[in-house]
Amino acid sequence: MEKFVLTGKTLAELEQFMLENSQTRYRAKQIYNWIYIKSVKTINEMTDLPVVTRELLEQKAVLCSISLKDKQISKDGTMKFLFETDDGNYAEAVLMRFDNRANLTACISTQVGCNMGCTFCATAKLGFKRNLTVEEIIQQIYCIQAETGLKVTNIVFMGQGEPLMNLDNMLGAIKIFREQFQVGARRITVSTCGIIPKINELAALDFQSTLAISLHAPNQEIRENIMPIAKKYKFDELISTLKHYTQITGRRVTIEYVLMKGINDSVESAYQLAKAISKLKSNVNLIIYNQNEKSIYKKPSNDTVQKFKYILEASGKKVTIRLERGADIDAACGQLSAKFQDK
Ligand code: SF4
Repeated sequence: MEKFVLTGKTLAELEQFMLENSQTRYRAKQIYNWIYIKSVKTINEMTDLPVVTRELLEQKAVLCSISLKDKQISKDGTMKFLFETDDGNYAEAVLMRFDNRANLTACISTQVGCNMGCTFCATAKLGFKRNLTVEEIIQQIYCIQAETGLKVTNIVFMGQGEPLMNLDNMLGAIKIFREQFQVGARRITVSTCGIIPKINELAALDFQSTLAISLHAPNQEIRENIMPIAKKYKFDELISTLKHYTQITGRRVTIEYVLMKGINDSVESAYQLAKAISKLKSNVNLIIYNQNEKSIYKKPSNDTVQKFKYILEASGKKVTIRLERGADIDAACGQLSAKFQDK
């Protein structure tokens, strides 16, 4: 008999399960608190449940359908988690703590692999296997909290996969993060490589979490060379779509731009980018390429990064440089799964 998976369920779903098993709604609420507030590791730790209820749960339910397969901890405190799904696939998540803030940010995956083919991305090399379910997305946060004993305050959908290609499950997970894990909409960021029809769907829903666009190029030509999706959804059309999105939602978008030496980091590229997004309500997040022994690209010099930043700032944009986190572990998306698949 297939066991009922507890984590990722709403209170109503837990109540239904408990009623079907001759238990009370109150017991469902207790389980709900143990999962979403305390993130206990085992059913046995739900100590205010009678022993018979815990035995029933052990027989008929499991806390999670994913399990922790590997964990790496960087010198800077960044933790990378590799989870195995019950059908033998892998999903990755990263937990980052920034020194100057109390926030704990978890970066989670929405798909096993990805078929967007971005040339700079380790996940792209894995190919696409399948979408993660709502429960599997939720369980990444639950497992991180259970493993570390820490409360995740911010969630970014920037792990493996293109979140907007798994839109319904992503939205289902966000609903649970907001209502059950009590993570506010503004503390959730969704990153997309630019799936135009899905961005329009989010606009129509008046999406209130932050939308980050993996732009990574200042024009169609460069974008097409590094991101095959740009052949389908053109640069100019993407910028127009984002302008529409900001008008409808009233929300600023984040432009993600990974700087790669000799590819998209020239002074000319900086000016082109500044011009392209000048009328777009946006901030820019520059990311220094995470180079490893298998990389086909190189990271730019500090001098180049600062020049690029300065040009964008001079155009009136707020620019941040994303700190390189977990440089000594496989913290870039897809690197850890790739290692396991290589074995
Ligand atoms: S960068 Fe994101 S969208 Fe592109 S291949 Fe990697 S996971 Fe997919």
